[in-house]
Amino acid sequence: MNVLVINSGSSSIKFQLIDMGDETVLASGLVERIGEPAGLIKCTLCPGGSAENEIKIESEIADHQSGMRRVVDILTDEENGVVQNRDEIGAVGHRVVHGGEAFHQPTLIDDDVIEAISRNIPLAPLHNPANLDGIRVARDIFAGIRQVAVFDTAFHQTIPDRAHIYALPYELYQKHRVRRYGFHGTSHKYVTGECARLLAKPVSECNLVTIHLGNGCSMTAVENGRSIDTSFGMTPLEGLVMGTRSGDIDPAIHAFLHRNNGMSVEEIDQMLNKASGLKGICGMNDMRDIHAAVADGDKLARLALDVQTYRNRKYIASYIAVLGRVDSLVFTAGIGENDDIVRARSVEGLEIFGIVLDEDVNKQRAKEPILISRKESSIPIWVIPTNEELAIARESVSVLNDREN
Ligand code: ADP
Repeated sequence: MNVLVINSGSSSIKFQLIDMGDETVLASGLVERIGEPAGLIKCTLCPGGSAENEIKIESEIADHQSGMRRVVDILTDEENGVVQNRDEIGAVGHRVVHGGEAFHQPTLIDDDVIEAISRNIPLAPLHNPANLDGIRVARDIFAGIRQVAVFDTAFHQTIPDRAHIYALPYELYQKHRVRRYGFHGTSHKYVTGECARLLAKPVSECNLVTIHLGNGCSMTAVENGRSIDTSFGMTPLEGLVMGTRSGDIDPAIHAFLHRNNGMSVEEIDQMLNKASGLKGICGMNDMRDIHAAVADGDKLARLALDVQTYRNRKYIASYIAVLGRVDSLVFTAGIGENDDIVRARSVEGLEIFGIVLDEDVNKQRAKEPILISRKESSIPIWVIPTNEELAIARESVSVLNDREN
């Protein structure tokens, strides 16, 4: 079965068409700048194969509907397409950011599910409406083809009360569902499954600390294959230091900035999400630029690296304390997979837990998982590439199979 995976943003649609027979990617691409005069569609057909074909179209894309239709035209193109018609697509899997407390699992989409995702809009005012746009458009274009919602929050619904309740008046949770939810769940779950396979253990017996370091960064404590704590909170702003997001700060800073720096709530929110993190400290948010600047003696770039990796270290240690027994640390995503310096700095000083990095292997690059700890390390350290699209496609197939059985 071919599964089309869609990640719909406010002005973009990322997509991948995957043949689930052998999990090959038939097409992968991005529709960008939807609603702007200069729209862009990039699509790679048969990526990595001998018939690889890159398509780039620049033209105005009025809305998600017309963007999606253009993608279908590319996929089904008589000459270069990868499927003959849309009936060769067996399912559409949608990434949905916020499932709130309603969704613990990927779910077959119907009107009630759409309604429930809409009810979570206050929790994710930027993401859920964009995800819903993608769902509505796909239901229209792929009428009759089953659609599955895969939630970023679902994996974390096993987190116990003690770890997800904020120490705020309890009625805020009762009235407004103010609590920690966690995100990046699809990625944490995927690398958990991959790590279990590498450790040759059932997932249900694996205790892991999974460390997703990309533009957004989060860490999860996985006990017996289930998330029991994670660094993101009610929104993807809490926790680790990210490219442009602050992660944990003293909540009193909000009031301080409002009173002493004349900032409105919107300005503070914007600053914490877009102008903080690595960028806030040193003006750069791409780790590659930061390393180049450090090499040139840029003190603020060094400070940004110090602050981020120190926070990583604190979280790793706290999750080891939470878990007691840890079968592996797992680094993943753009920085986690590629950046040996950040990895090394993030486990520095953790020898107290018997964690011993292999400095040489750590410097190697691979598209495959690699073990970067030394033999004597009591906790192995793995680098495992994440693959959220494949994870969404697999989850979609399993929902359909469950339905049929
Ligand atoms: P997203 O969270 O948007 O999915 P990614 O997981 O793709 O992000 O990570 C993007 C980040 O990964 C970039 O901002 C960059 O800092 C970092 N990155 C990518 N490649 C490298 C590399 N070779 N070395 C260091 N950092 C890298």
